[in-house]
Order: sequence, then C-alpha cells, then structure tokens
Amino acid sequence: MNLIFLGQQGSGKGTFAQYVSARKGLVQISAGDLLRAEVKAETDLGKKAKEIMNAGELVPDELVAELVEKKIEKEKSNGVILDGYPRTLTQAELLEKILSNHKLKINAVINFVISDETTFKRIGGRLTCTQCGKIYNKESNPPKEEGKCNSCGGEVVTRDDDTKQAIKKRLDVYRQQTKPLIDYYKEKGLLKEFDAKPALDELKPKFDELLKELE
Ligand SMILES: [Zn+2]
Repeated sequence: MNLIFLGQQGSGKGTFAQYVSARKGLVQISAGDLLRAEVKAETDLGKKAKEIMNAGELVPDELVAELVEKKIEKEKSNGVILDGYPRTLTQAELLEKILSNHKLKINAVINFVISDETTFKRIGGRLTCTQCGKIYNKESNPPKEEGKCNSCGGEVVTRDDDTKQAIKKRLDVYRQQTKPLIDYYKEKGLLKEFDAKPALDELKPKFDELLKELE
C-alpha cells in the first residue's frame, strides 16, 4: 500500500504517518528529511542542494524528485507513506512519472483537515529551547520554570517562525499551492478527507476504520 498524507501545519499528519508505519510497516518518506540527510552525508546531490539553499533559493523540484525516487525504489516492497510530498502540482506530476517508472500506484491521498484556529492553538503556543532544541507548549506543556529549559537550563523562546503572523503567512502559501493539488487528486478519485480536529486518542479508531476501507 502506498499513501500520500496532506495537511496544513498542526494537522498531525506526521504523527499519523508514524502511527501507520508502526502498525503497517509502511515506510514514512518526508522530502525535507531526505534532503537534510543528503546534505549531512555530503553526497553530490547534497552538496548541490546545500549550495542552492545557502544562496537563499528553493531546491528545484527535479532534485527533490530524484531523492524521492531513490527512496521509493529502496522501500517499494514495504509500501510508503509520502508525508507532505508532493506539495505542488508540478511535484505531483513528477511523482506520477516516478511511480510509473517503478510500476507503482497510490492507493489513497489522505487530507488531514483542520481549521486555522486549530493550527494557531497547536503551533501558536510552541516554545523552543535555544540551546538544545527541546519543544514546549505555553498551555499544554510549559517548562517548569518560565523561560528556562527543563533539560539543559537554556533559554526557552517563541521562534520567529512560530509567531501568529508567520504562521498565517505560511498557511496562505500552503493553501495557494495545495488547492490545485487537492483538485488533481479529487479528479483521480484518490482523495479522502479526514477530519483531524479532535484529539489524537479520539482520532486513532477513526483512522483505523479508514485504513481498513483502503485495504
Ligand atoms: Zn534545552
């Protein structure tokens, strides 16, 4: 089984990708993780990507697709979950080619739907330790001492990326990019909308039902 997970920030799709990979043995593939791993390993592709990113530019779709193809080829006997990939229609078309190269198909595209309010609630309260990177939440999981990391004593702050304006801007970009993608998969009859607003424990049984339908 091969799945695509879509969803705006805070939708929990990454958590569900982990949940499904643990239960079904599918391999979670995140384009961002692949790219970071490649840069870290200093492969030719990684070096090229790093140069582009250092210049403040976006890594071209073709380069990302190459990484995704390598990973899919390696994991295709297990089945994969593409977590947040493709992100744009161009990427979806590249993915289509990759799949046909390897005679694979996508069983479903699951769109984890939440409102912007839910995103703000889940992400807006995020606090990050400037030293060790540990993540806290203002409401649900604050550090024991205000502004101070429980593990390393470092300063705990709201990152610039996590301010409400920054989140709002990212959501606008996300919607703009994803709208055509959602239409594309709807037309193919692959799109499944999944209401991801309730808490995780409540969602798991619903998600299990959805998986059963797909088998
Ligand atoms: Zn820390």
